[in-house]
This record gives sequence, structure tokens and C-alpha cells, in this order.
Amino acid sequence: MCVASLRTISATLATPEFTLLSTCFTGRYLKYLGYEVNYVRNFTDVDDKIIARANELGEDPINLSRRYCEEFRHDMAYLNCLPPSVEPCVSDHMPQIIDMIKQILNNGCSYTIDGDVYFSVDKFPEYGRLSGRRLEDNRAGERVAVDSRKKNPADFALWKSAKEGEPFWESPWGPGRPGWHIECSAMSAAYLGYSFDIHGGGMDLIFPHHENEIAQSCAACHESSVSYWIHNGFVTIDSEKMSKSLGNFFTIRQVLELYHPLALRLFLMGTHYRSPINYSDLQLESSSDRVFYIFQTLHDCERILTQYDEASLKDSIPPGIATCIKNFYDECLASMLDDLHTPVALAAMSEPLKTINDLLHTRKGKKQELRIESLAALGKAIGNILTILGLLPDSYSEALQQLRDYALKRARLTEDQVVQKIEERNAARKNKDYEKSDAIRKELAAVGIALMDSPEGTTWRPAIPLAFQELQFSAS
Ligand SMILES: [Zn+2]
Repeated sequence: MCVASLRTISATLATPEFTLLSTCFTGRYLKYLGYEVNYVRNFTDVDDKIIARANELGEDPINLSRRYCEEFRHDMAYLNCLPPSVEPCVSDHMPQIIDMIKQILNNGCSYTIDGDVYFSVDKFPEYGRLSGRRLEDNRAGERVAVDSRKKNPADFALWKSAKEGEPFWESPWGPGRPGWHIECSAMSAAYLGYSFDIHGGGMDLIFPHHENEIAQSCAACHESSVSYWIHNGFVTIDSEKMSKSLGNFFTIRQVLELYHPLALRLFLMGTHYRSPINYSDLQLESSSDRVFYIFQTLHDCERILTQYDEASLKDSIPPGIATCIKNFYDECLASMLDDLHTPVALAAMSEPLKTINDLLHTRKGKKQELRIESLAALGKAIGNILTILGLLPDSYSEALQQLRDYALKRARLTEDQVVQKIEERNAARKNKDYEKSDAIRKELAAVGIALMDSPEGTTWRPAIPLAFQELQFSAS
């Protein structure tokens, strides 16, 4: 089985990079199911927006897009997205693109005018099947100036003749460059063949981009088919679409200045990929808090287990624990099979995590028969699901330290300053100055630093800042 998730770099220049992500969440799961994944991610390095930007900057357009591609790869790696099997870009695939345009011409589905080549939508009766649009609707809603040379206003360019100040390539129709849509058809055919399993992209690409891709591919080869289209919803801010023109735009890297990459990943997985996802600081705070809780629980579990020799453990667990683990797996895997319903898989983690904490910390749990065996089995089960979701850190303790560092950064405090506050509070408590000790606790809680008292002393952990907690309370 081969799997493609095609998306273009032009989108990362024009729209928030977030929209790309959900299509990157499928690889590990498909591999877990036993599929051999061939993941193609193509980059548009030649298009109107890139050329315009390159001219503004006085830079070569191909260079400019190489730079963006490199940054994009880094962002994806930060977010623990698996790298694609192959990453073709347009400028390296002109022969394949030109060949496909020739095939479409030979099959009578396109026409040439003055060095341009247009696809003739009237020659493809299934046009509009993916988006559910009809050609008549397009005409009625046509707002852009219509090129009077086209046979049908919905016809789109396969090849554009060279214009002043634009990069161009030689072709049978004269010098020029490909239209935007043809590249995806040509590159997917080159790496995956005409029929493949999954094609991804943002909602905004359904029409006209993917509609045009289907038309081109089928016109070039009748057997062309895509089994599943995965279209992700947009990231919104206060329910408005994130966009550069609205000014409510920021990049993955800006978010990662303040939040752990796995917290951002958990946030993005907390909503089904087809739905819009609303970004807010509160959401990111909640996700950070959640990953901290998950990793802390598993870290505590792991620490206890290191005290035991695995060989000395019995090969059984109590029926209650076995049922808890079975339900957990069933729920996670069933929800993933249901169109990658990640939010349900994430929610299913609550029960086994709570069971681990009970076993670790409650009086009843500590006395439970086969306690260590139960902890080992529960920890392993959650770790397996975290692996499938790409949420497993290299080390829990390292990730916890990183989450603490991020929390300090958001609180604009250093570890030393927090320790000093704790000492001041200890002194106040010793002097029975509870007003002061309470004030210190509140001051820290306000910026997301929670103090925890135990017989061994006071420690701190990241928490949702108080003001956000109130927001969360009023929202729920
Ligand atoms: Zn495409």
C-alpha cells in the first residue's frame, strides 16, 4: 500500500502552517496497522506568490522556496512528524509535468492558445464530483475577470507562457512554467502511480485545486484514482480563520517559543482533523498541563519499576486491570479506525492514568495485589498509544524538565527565583505569617507555578495560570 499526503509549500507562505499538520498524523498509525507507508510531500517552488515575494526581496524564487522548505522541515521535525519518504519539488520535475500535459493534449482534453495550455473542463463530465460543485454554479458565481480566450470560464491553465521577470522552462508550447494544479498530478503519478490510497490537504484545496487534479490525472490516464481524501479544517482564533490578511497570524515557531512541541501536538490532536480548531492561550496552557500530567504519571510509574527486576515479576495482572487495559486499547484503536478520531483516543487515556496514580499514591492502591505487574502493564499500554500518536518523548524526565523550563519562561521567572520564593514562604510559615505565605503561593499560582507541600518539603510544578483557570471554569 502506498500513501501520499500531498500539500504544497505555497500554502505555508500564504496560510498558517498549522493547516498542514493533521495530514502528518497518519503515518505512525498506518505503520502500526502493518502498512508499508510511502509518503510523498511535494513542494511548490514555482508559483505566482513565490515569484512575487522573490521579486520583492530581490531573491531567486527557487532559492527563496528552498529556504522556506528547509524551515518547514524543521517545524515538522519539532512537532515529531515523521519525515516523508520523498519530497519532490516542481522545478526538478519539468519533464514529468510536460509529459503529462502532452498526454492530456493527445487525449483531447486541453487546447493551446498563444503558448498557454488550458484544460477543457467540458471534456471531463465528472468535473465537480469531489467538491459537489456544478459547472453552472461556477459560472453564476464567477467574480474574477474571465479570460475571453478560454472556451469555458472554468478552464484552467496547465502551462503558462513566459512573462517578463518570471522564471521559465522550455516546452513544446514555447518557454513558460506549469500552472499550479498540474504539478501535483505529475508528481503523484511519478512517485505513487496513477492510483494511490490517500491524498491530503487543507479544506481550501478541495476546490478548485483537488478538483482540477482529479480532472487532469483522469484525462492523462483513465485508471487514475485516489481512494481517500483527507482534508483538514483550519486553525481559527476566536472562531475566525487565521490568516495573514486579518493579522491574526502566527507561526509554529512563535508558539514553540513558549510551549513545548508535544503540548502543541496534543492541542492539534485534541480536535478531529476535519473540524476547525480554535487556538487560544488557554487551550495551549491546558494542553501543556495535560502532557505534564501524562508524563509525570508515567515517569513516577517508571521510577518504581526500576526498583524491580523484570524477571522477578509474575506473568499475570488482576482481572480489573486487564479489563481497564483492554477497554483502553479497544477505545483508542476503534476511534483511530473511525477516520482518525484522535480526540477520543486522547480522552481514553484518562482511566489508565488514573489507575496508575491510584496504585502509586493511594493507601488502597499501594496494597493492591500484583501492584508492580499492574503498573508495568498500564505504563506499557499508555506508552504504546503515545507512540502511535507521536506523543512519546525520548525520556519522560527530560520532557518534564523541558515543560518546567517552558513554564518558567512563560512566568518570566528563573528556577532560582522560584526556589527563593519557596524559601521566603517557608520562613513566613515558620513565623506563622500565613498571610505572607499565602500571598507568595498565590503570586506564583497567578503565573502558572503551583507549589506542592509534602513531608519532604515544598516543590513546584507547572500549572495553568490562575486567570486562565477562571476562564476555563467559566467556559465549561
Ligand atoms: Zn496539490
